[in-house]
Amino acid sequence: MEKELLIPRKTILAKVKELARRISSDYAEKEPILIGVLNGVVFFFTDLVTEMTIPSKIDFIRAASYGSNTSSSGSVRLTKDVEIPIQGKPVILVEDIVDTGLTLTKIVETLKQRDLESIKVCALIDKLERRDMDVTIDYYGFRVNEGFLVGYGLDHDEQYRYLPDIYTLK
Ligand code: 5GP
Repeated sequence: MEKELLIPRKTILAKVKELARRISSDYAEKEPILIGVLNGVVFFFTDLVTEMTIPSKIDFIRAASYGSNTSSSGSVRLTKDVEIPIQGKPVILVEDIVDTGLTLTKIVETLKQRDLESIKVCALIDKLERRDMDVTIDYYGFRVNEGFLVGYGLDHDEQYRYLPDIYTLK
């Protein structure tokens, strides 16, 4: 499959720094718990957390992914939960990309039952074209209309995650 460069690494890292600055300022004195949605988020997640200038805690959650298909199956299954206590804490859910919004809605619904102090959402990419659910993304890096994106953690059938830049798959 052909791929076309969409967001070069320099642009990604500048944006991640900007997000880290905003979050650090909004959560000063708060020590938020950042929860990453595995696996695609890991590159973005580590860059974001290490660029932040305030203490934080981290954990991960996993939702069943698209598999080898490029369109959503319409159902989302949580296959890994957080392992540190999050009750009464300020939580920031960190996603790689939000497409239909189904995955995010499901995870936020689940976490909201845990009696958190607050929950906000940070996503590197807000992909607009196929949005089905009414989701709030408090911090987003880039808005794109369409296309299937790979690289910087984003995969197609487990390929391309290692790429340092973000590409559109043709
Ligand atoms: P949603 O539930 O919002 O439709 O989909 C969210 C999940 O679908 C993401 O976490 C990601 O795993 C996958 N996904 C959606 N769009 C893309 C894309 O353009 N590229 C890749 N690699 N994964 C995507």
